[in-house]
Amino acid sequence: MRILDLAPDLILHNAVIYTQSAHAPVVQAVAIKEGRILATGADAAILPLASSATQVLDLGGRAVLPGIFDSHNHLLQVGVKLTRIRLDECRSPAEMMELVRQRAAETPPGHWIVGEGWNEGNFAEADPPGRLPTRWDIDPATDQHPVILMRFFNTDVVNSVALRLAGVTRGTPNPPGGEIGRDAAGEPNGLLRAAAKLLVRNLLPRPTLDELRTAIQLGCQEMNRHGITSVLDPGLYPYELAAYQAVVAEGRVAMSEGRSAVPISVRLNVMPSWHGFREEETEAELEARARSLGVASGLGDEWLRLGGLKMAIDGGTSSHTALMYAPFEGETHVGDFNRLDPQTLRRHFRTAQELRWDVGIHTCGDRAMDMVVDAFADVARSTPWSDARHNVIHAYFPSDRALAQMAEHRIAAVIQPTFLYWEGDLIFRDVGERRAANYKPARKYLDHGVVLCATSDIPSTVSPDPFVGMYALVTRKNNLGHYVAPDQAITRSEALHACTVAGAWLTREEALKGTLEAGRLADLIVIDRDYFTVPDEQLKEIGVLMTVVGGQIVFKRQTDARSPDMP
Ligand SMILES: [Zn+2]
Repeated sequence: MRILDLAPDLILHNAVIYTQSAHAPVVQAVAIKEGRILATGADAAILPLASSATQVLDLGGRAVLPGIFDSHNHLLQVGVKLTRIRLDECRSPAEMMELVRQRAAETPPGHWIVGEGWNEGNFAEADPPGRLPTRWDIDPATDQHPVILMRFFNTDVVNSVALRLAGVTRGTPNPPGGEIGRDAAGEPNGLLRAAAKLLVRNLLPRPTLDELRTAIQLGCQEMNRHGITSVLDPGLYPYELAAYQAVVAEGRVAMSEGRSAVPISVRLNVMPSWHGFREEETEAELEARARSLGVASGLGDEWLRLGGLKMAIDGGTSSHTALMYAPFEGETHVGDFNRLDPQTLRRHFRTAQELRWDVGIHTCGDRAMDMVVDAFADVARSTPWSDARHNVIHAYFPSDRALAQMAEHRIAAVIQPTFLYWEGDLIFRDVGERRAANYKPARKYLDHGVVLCATSDIPSTVSPDPFVGMYALVTRKNNLGHYVAPDQAITRSEALHACTVAGAWLTREEALKGTLEAGRLADLIVIDRDYFTVPDEQLKEIGVLMTVVGGQIVFKRQTDARSPDMP
C-alpha cells in the first residue's frame, strides 16, 4: 500500500511573517505542502509537523511578506528588452559600435541586431561631447546585419544595411510627422526621428517562439529578483498569448519529468489587446474576435489565466497627450486625444459586459477619466453584472463623481506609484500645482471605498521594484525628495494590500493569493529588513533575499555581508 506523506515539504520558521490575514496577522512559522500553505503559527506549533523529508529553514528573525502581485506589468516586453543590446550606459557612439560588433560576432548573418536605451546626454566621451551617433559610426561593426539602435525616446539610429532594406535614399522625402536625418550633402545619416522610425521598425520581424521563450524566462527572473510572484500582463497580441501558453505547457512537461519544480516562476494573468491600439483593425473584426472565443475573464488556472480585455482611450501627461479639460501648463488649447467617443466607449463596454469580459482601460486625463467612469456606470445600470472587475489603468485625476461611481460599481483604480517616484517633478511641469494635488490620489480612492491596485507598468518606468512603489505611496515623495500631493499618503499596510490582495481581486483570485493562510498558494518573499518597522526613508531600499512561488525557492540573493546567515 502506498500512503501519501502528509508532512510538509517545507517549513520556514524563526521569522516575522506578516500574513495579511485578519485572525493571525503576524506569525513565526509557515508550513508548505504541494505548493500550498498547510498551516501558519508559532514555531512551537509548526515545527513538530516536520518529518525527516521536510526541508526546514531557519530565517533568523527576518521579515516575510506575501508575494507581490504586480497587476500592470508588461513582463514579456521586459524580457524582449533584456534580449537586446543594453545601451543605457554607453558613453560614446564608439562604445555603442563595440557592443554591436560583439553581438554581430554571435548573430547569424542577415539577422537583425537591436539595441535600446542610448542617450546622447551620457556621451561625455564623444567628440564633441553629446554628438549624435550616425550610421557611419555603426557601419564598421558589421555589413552583414541590419542594425537598429533605439534612443531612450523617439529617435533611432540604423546602419547602412537597414537603410538599404528600407529603401531610404537621398531622394526619400520625410514622412508626415517624421524626419530622416541627413548630412550636409543631403545623404541620410541613419538617424530617424518620430514617425520616420517606422520606415525601419516596420521591417523588424515578429519575434520567433524561441526568442519569446527566452524573453519570458528572462522577464520572470527579473520579476522574481524583485519579489514579484504574479503579474497581470496587459495588451497582448495573439502570438504573445500563444507564446505564454506554450512556455507554461513546456514547463508542465518539465515538471512532470522532474526537471523543474514549477511550470513557470511567475504566475501569469494575461490581458488580450482589444480596442484603441491598432487603427487598421476594424471594430467589426475586434467584436468578432471577442465573440468567437466563447470564453471570458477567469479562464485558466493558478499558473496562467485570462484577465480582462485591454483598451486605451488617451495618451499620457508627460507627452501632453492625455485627454484633459484644460490645457497643459504652457499651452493655450486643449488637444483632442480621445481615441473612443462616448457612444463607442459604451458600445465596447456593453459588448464586454455581455460576454463577461472584464475591461482594463488606459486612462490618464481628467476628462478621459470622467468619460470612462460614466460609461462604465451607464453600462453597469443597463446591463447588470454583479461580478464585473472592470478597472481604470493609470487613473490620474478622479473627480468626486468618478470616485462615487467607482465605489458604487466596484471599478478598480490601477495606479503606478513608480511614476510618482521616477518622474520627479514632471507632473508639476505638465499640469501645475493645483491639478497635481489630485494626482494618483490613493488616500481618496481608499476613503471612497474604491479598490486600489499599485503596480509598476515596467518597462514604462525605471524598475519594477515594489518597495520603491510602496515608499512613494507611504511618503508621497519623488526621486528628488519633493512631495507630490502629500495628503494622499496611505499606510504601509494599505500600500502592501494594494500590491497583493487588491491584484488578486482584480483577477478573481482572492481565494488563492494575497494573504498567507492555510489553503492559499505558497507564494511569499523574505526581505532584508522589516517593512513595518524600518524608517520611512529605508522603505525604498528594502531588498528581496528569497522569493518562493508554489512552495519552491525561485530566487535567492547571493549571500553577502548584510545577510551572512541566509540559508
Ligand atoms: Zn502599461
